[in-house]
Amino acid sequence: MAVSILDLKRQYKQIEKEVTASISKIFENQHFILGENVSKLEIETAEYLGAKYCIGVASGTDALLLSLRAMGLKEGEGVITTSFTFFATSGAIHNAKGRPFFVDIDPVSFNISPAKLREFLESECDRAEEGVVFKKDKTKIKIVLPVHLYGLPCEMDEITSICKEYNLKILEDSCQAFGSEYKGRKAGTFGEASAFSFFPTKNLGGAGDGGLISTGDENLAKRLKKLRVHGSERRYYHDEIGYNSRLDEIQAAVVRIKLKYLDKWNKKRAEIADLYRAEFERVKEVETPFCPSHSKHIYHQFVIRAKRRDELKAYLDQKNIGNMIYYPVPLHMQTCFGFLGYKRGDLLETEKAADEVLALPIFAELREEEVKEVVREIANFYSGSR
Ligand SMILES: *Cc1c(COP(=O)(O)O)cnc(C)c1O
Repeated sequence: MAVSILDLKRQYKQIEKEVTASISKIFENQHFILGENVSKLEIETAEYLGAKYCIGVASGTDALLLSLRAMGLKEGEGVITTSFTFFATSGAIHNAKGRPFFVDIDPVSFNISPAKLREFLESECDRAEEGVVFKKDKTKIKIVLPVHLYGLPCEMDEITSICKEYNLKILEDSCQAFGSEYKGRKAGTFGEASAFSFFPTKNLGGAGDGGLISTGDENLAKRLKKLRVHGSERRYYHDEIGYNSRLDEIQAAVVRIKLKYLDKWNKKRAEIADLYRAEFERVKEVETPFCPSHSKHIYHQFVIRAKRRDELKAYLDQKNIGNMIYYPVPLHMQTCFGFLGYKRGDLLETEKAADEVLALPIFAELREEEVKEVVREIANFYSGSR
């Protein structure tokens, strides 16, 4: 039996009527840019997250880029982040004219390691008036960008206290974590700002590209709203150069509908994750993802560590069992970032994870027999009975 890694058609069936009604209303009104769906979504997401302000933008990547700009990142300044993430995290830093500094991950959570962050700050940086300075070449570093990878929040208490101590700002990359919680608070409410993505395959996805920024800072919110419309507050008067980065009405309408179902869908994902865990108990070659009791994981991805990962992947491909490697090449080893000067061996846990991880099918409508089939095939692979 083939199992798809993600089948969005099953989700669409549940909301088809609502979506078509809402979209046809937009066409009747012919109001496609910054209309009532965007402003309502901004209010509804702020309420859902427990954030003061939300600002819709064109993508998760832009949410990062505009936030970095609004938070005052200047040309050549550093941003500390993880190398084990989707490309956009450090692509946005570069496109905001900043320079990424990579810190290794915690091997259990796959998220940036607070201990390694502290070690980097203590051994390689000097304190400065604002943030720190990288000793080797005096690069100013003002921002830390943790990524809540696969839907599991980073250890925000530790990260926040380190950042306070060193006077660093936090921008969260919550693109995989809409609805995740850390100690009862939603991911995306810990930093000065947080970026979300509505890319169709995310837990809360639109019908195309879309993104959102949350912040508790009124001035930052104002600046972000200005940056998304070419830097103008009053039309045709520009006191800074911004972007064309709006969330469009159709995306906002779809996301608004899905937001109502999000908790239900995230709960289903967590149940599927539990089923996987129970089923995998008999497969000792597989390590299932860990979630500390103080966090709520939304399982944007269900990612295992597997022995002989590449062979397993080839086997599952051949059996039509959906699977993906997120991410095969850490960012510090990407050709395009060669100029940053990193090499293999610099971030050992990140490199090890890239060689061992494998994402398996997970979505709210995935059926119990499909989960069992995935595990059965993986068990078959390891027992040699193929
Ligand atoms: C998806 C994603 C992004 C980028 O979002 P887009 O909407 O595709 O631009 C950034 N960071 C992470 C971790 C993501 O998963």
